[in-house]
This record gives sequence, structure tokens and C-alpha cells, in this order.
Amino acid sequence: MSAPVQRGSIARWNQTMIPTTREAPADAESPSHILLSRAGYIRKLGAGIYDYLPLAWRVIKKVSAIVREEMDAAGASELHLPVLLPIELYAGTRRDRDYGDLLFKINDRKAGTYALGPTHEEPITELVKGSVSSYKQLPINLYQIQVKFRDEARPRSGLLRGREFIMKDAYSFHMNVEGPGGLNETYDKMYQAYSNVFRRCGLSFTAVEAESGPIGGSASHEFMVNCESGEDTVLRCPASGYAANVEKCEIGARPAPSKGYFGGDPSGVMEEVHTPGCPGIEDVCTFMKVKPGNMLKSVLFKVVSSAEDLAKYGEEYILAVVRGDHDVNEGKVKAAAGVKAIALADPAEAIKKGFAIGFVSPRAAVGKPGVLLLVDREAAVGFDDAAGKAKFWVTGADKKDHHVKHFNWVRDLGTDPLAAEAHQPETHGTGGLKGGNKYMMVADVRNAVAGDPSPRSAGAKLETSRGIEVGHIFKLGTKYSEAMGLAILDDKQQKRPVIMGCYGIGVSRTMASSVEQNHDADGIIWPAAIAPFGVLITIMKHDAPEQTNLAADLAEQLAAAGVDVLIDDRDERPGVKFKDADLIGIPVRLTLGDKALAAASVEFKLRSSKDKGSLVPIAEVVAACVNAVRGNG
Ligand code: ATP
Ligand code: MG
Repeated sequence: MSAPVQRGSIARWNQTMIPTTREAPADAESPSHILLSRAGYIRKLGAGIYDYLPLAWRVIKKVSAIVREEMDAAGASELHLPVLLPIELYAGTRRDRDYGDLLFKINDRKAGTYALGPTHEEPITELVKGSVSSYKQLPINLYQIQVKFRDEARPRSGLLRGREFIMKDAYSFHMNVEGPGGLNETYDKMYQAYSNVFRRCGLSFTAVEAESGPIGGSASHEFMVNCESGEDTVLRCPASGYAANVEKCEIGARPAPSKGYFGGDPSGVMEEVHTPGCPGIEDVCTFMKVKPGNMLKSVLFKVVSSAEDLAKYGEEYILAVVRGDHDVNEGKVKAAAGVKAIALADPAEAIKKGFAIGFVSPRAAVGKPGVLLLVDREAAVGFDDAAGKAKFWVTGADKKDHHVKHFNWVRDLGTDPLAAEAHQPETHGTGGLKGGNKYMMVADVRNAVAGDPSPRSAGAKLETSRGIEVGHIFKLGTKYSEAMGLAILDDKQQKRPVIMGCYGIGVSRTMASSVEQNHDADGIIWPAAIAPFGVLITIMKHDAPEQTNLAADLAEQLAAAGVDVLIDDRDERPGVKFKDADLIGIPVRLTLGDKALAAASVEFKLRSSKDKGSLVPIAEVVAACVNAVRGNG
């Protein structure tokens, strides 16, 4: 026997609110922002703050229902935590500081400070700390679907990047990483549950290896909706299936230069060039008529040190150098330097330290204690193997508005970089940094690009595409439990910090991503599983009883079969109704008109099809609708 069908709902256009408009808001650029606004789903109330109108809320509820089913099936339990979080919760984790300006803070009447939850690691850890005392109560996986707040620097694209948005967040707690009940087991279940959720939502997506960001932790995957308008760059190896966010993507072995790193004679006498009004690499290249591949790009980071390290080593900086057509990868810089946290150096502070920000060359690192010079492999060459001659480099002149050409590593660092490893530990020692006594290291510190060697399959080349991050799963480890003192007695009566994982889905972003992927020039094309309604019944004559009665009758039968129905009962011209129907994107449109009715039929049209639609006998139309909206979800 099949499961009982849950009755669908029936709504009438005249009794709900669907304020469609021809014009999109001036700030709307992405298809989802434009179409969701024009189709009367969302309305902006402030920067990154949106009303969800009835149609949008129905989509949110459908996405949420799929998320709930999959989370529950994977053994997670739903709960609901406060949005308003006393700032004292962050005393141990210091994320009130790490989150920086992203965190919304408010005061109450007694001058207590609160954060509006950007994600909920702290309150959930606090809850488990007070509620779980024995290893026998673990593992446990708790989730909620709730509004989150982040004061994004650039809220944009409507629901894709809001300041208030809806997230499903889950947190799991374990005594072990491996084995039954361990973190890895739940992580794998969540990976599978997320794959099910996005598949059921009708999205084309890719799971990629990812950086863990300010949440921290050891391993993570992002679920990316495949979409050229996406903000994230994804790299894939076609041979091995490896896929990673550019923030994380490794690069396979790159051939060493034939003359060794830094080896080769200068391309000419060093020349200083006045380059006024050229702040960026591109401006300099245009001005000097050189290719970005002949520029050295130097980026200065400051190591974020603990008070203890600061006392021991003093302030530490890293100068990362990549070729001008490449981008510095912060995660790789951190890993190569062996430090936990870095931040772009404050320009004013850097200038005081002798770095002419905007015009820095590798020479600026020489002779400065506590500065590590990290050079990417393709920047660390003196001889251009492809061209068969000395490498021509342009770099900053270490003074405002000036660059130099014919830079040569060995000649111009005032010392032999090849011998740098053994060079003057007292003056160049970088103490806490991995470089130790070296002040200079060659490493992979750039973002991967299309055509780079795959890190997983010899001979294969990486390919790029773009995506929208809709889900993210992390292995957190003990970061939060240690910071907040969540330790539990194990089976040997030993107190151990609990091991955690966390798992987020952007519910409102998932809705918008679906529109990014599924639309045409006329409007939205919802996959049936998350469409606000499965069927739209368009009545041509709103006051003709044979049409309104048939609409009510069909709606009743469809609802009984589990289909949600919207009846367009407005006193509007057919052209207006058809335009609106295309705009709001309900999967099936039934049109009740005199001609069809005379033939005991209604017009049946799929939103996803370019076909004009066809006449279906009234007796068969319910089955045709059910067939069209099922099998999808
Ligand atoms: P992003 O890199 O896009 O800023 P994030 O990595 O900071 O996102 P997480 O902390 O991983 O986001 O949050 C979990 C999920 O919440 C994300 O995968 C995304 O789907 C969603 N999300 C995060 N920030 C926003 C936002 N400003 N608006 C809408 N959804 C968001
Ligand atoms: Mg993320």
C-alpha cells in the first residue's frame, strides 16, 4: 500500500497578494533578484532585508520540508534556539572579535550587549554542555531552521546575499572521530542528506572541497549550485572527479625552472619608471605596455598573534609574491608560513614599517626582522623557459607612484636568494613563522587557474566553472568544546572535549539559486518539488459560472490528489493573466475558456515547455496534472 496522500491547498489570486510588476527595482541585477521582485515574491525593506510574500513563503516552506525530511531521516532532531545571544557567550571563542563587522550587536535597556546570531555554534555548545553529561548520550545531531543575521559588507542579488536570511544549521557531537557514532559517520550521512536535499529541490549542483573560513575546523565541503552567475570559482579535474573551491584547490606538481628557482641573468639594467595614477596591476600594465605575466604582485599580510607569541617573537609579517596574472591565496599563505591566522596588513601601519603599499617589491622584505618572503613557484624564476631568454620582470619601486623594470631576483635582493636559507638568522629570523631562520621560501601560494596540473591525476588539467554556495558541512573538531569547556566522561571515566561537526544550508539562498538556474526571458520556471503551487488554473471569464464552477471542481480534485492549486480569478485581460502566469512560474497552467469547454476540454500547458499547450479532456486533466508534478521530488 502506498502512503496516504497529503491534501494540497487551494488559493485564489484575488484573496492572496501577488503584486507583479513590469519594472524590476533599480538595484536588481541578477535574474533571481529581478524575477522574484517582479513576480511579487519578495520586496526590499532595507539593504539586504526582504519581505517574503505569500508565494515566496510557500517556496521557503517546501524547501524547508525537504530539508526536514532528509535531516530527520539522517537521525537529526529539530530544535529552536534564540536569535538574541548574550555577548558573554563569545567569551571563550572570541568570535565576537573574529567575525568582525559581520556580527550585528545590540544593547538592551540595562546596557547589556547581545549579538544577533550569525550562526549558532556557541549557544548550541552551551546547551549541550548543560544537558549532556555522559558519552552514552552521544552522538547527537541537533538542527534548526531559522533566521540569521550578518552585516554583510555588500548585501546584493536579493536573497542570494542578504543581511537577514534563512538558514538550516545543524551541529553534531561525538566522543570519537572514527568508528560507529563518530564524527566521520555523521559527516558522511550529512553529505548524503545534502545531496538528497539539493537533488530533490531540482538543482544541478557539485559538492566541492572547501576552506573552513571563520567557523574554523579541519575538513569541509561546499555544495555549489552550478551557475555562471555564481560568486564562487570551482575547479575540477576531469580525470579524477576532484572538485574544489578556488579558495582551497591544490595545484599538482609544477615543473621546476630549468635554471633552478631564481636562477638566470638579468634581462637588462634596472630602470625606474614614473607611473602616476596607476593603483592596480592592470593600470600599470597598460601604462608600461607589459603583460600581467611579467609583473610581480606583492601582498603584505600581518600574522594575527596571541599575546604570548607577540611577547616571544614580536610583530610578524608575510610578504607573498605571485605573478601579476595570478592571485594570492590566503589559505595557502597561512599553511606555507605555518601560522593560524593572518590578515591583510593595515596600509598606514605597513607604510610606517617601510612597505610602500601599492608599490611594494620583494626587496622590501630584505633586512627586516620578522618578515617572511613567500614566493610562488612561477614568480620565483629568473629565466623564462618558454621564451628561452632572461625573464623580464616589472615590480614596484618601493616608493609611491614608481615601478621598476628588468628586476632580477639574485641581483636585486642584495643577496643571493639561492643561499637565503642559511642567511643571517639574527637579522632575518622570523621566529614564530615556519620559515624559522629562513627569510625567504618558495611555495604554492596562489589560486589555481584553468589549465593548472591536477593534484589528483598526473597529466590531467584543472577546469574552472562558477557556482553559488548553498550548503556547507564542516568537521569542527574540538575548537568550540575546548573554548567553551564542553568535556564529557568517556567509557574509561576520563573527561575529554567533545568532537563536533556543523552543517549549514542557505534555505533562502537555495530558493534564489533555483531561479538563477531555472528561468527564461518571461519569468521563473520552478521545479515542481519547490514550486509555490503545482497547478495554476486561469479562468478566462472571471464571471462565467461554467468556468468558475469547473475551476473550483478541478481544484478540489487536484487538492484531494495532493496538488497545490492557485486559481487566477481576477477580472483581467487574458494577455495580462498569461504574462503573469509565465512570470510566477507555476509548473502547469490550465486555461479554462469557452472554446475548450465547448469541446469538454481544458488547455494544458507546461511552463517548462515552449509548446503552446494542448487540449486535454476534462475527465483526464487531473491525472495529467498529477503526472506532471510528481516524479519530481
Ligand atoms: P559566503 O561565503 O557566501 O559568505 P559563508 O561561507 O560565510 O557564505 P556559511 O557560514 O557557510 O556561509 O553559512 C552556511 C550557508 O548559509 C551558506 O552555505 C549559504 O548557503 C548561506 N548563507 C551564508 N551567508 C548568507 C547570506 N548573506 N545570505 C543568504 N544566505 C547566506
Ligand atoms: Mg560557507
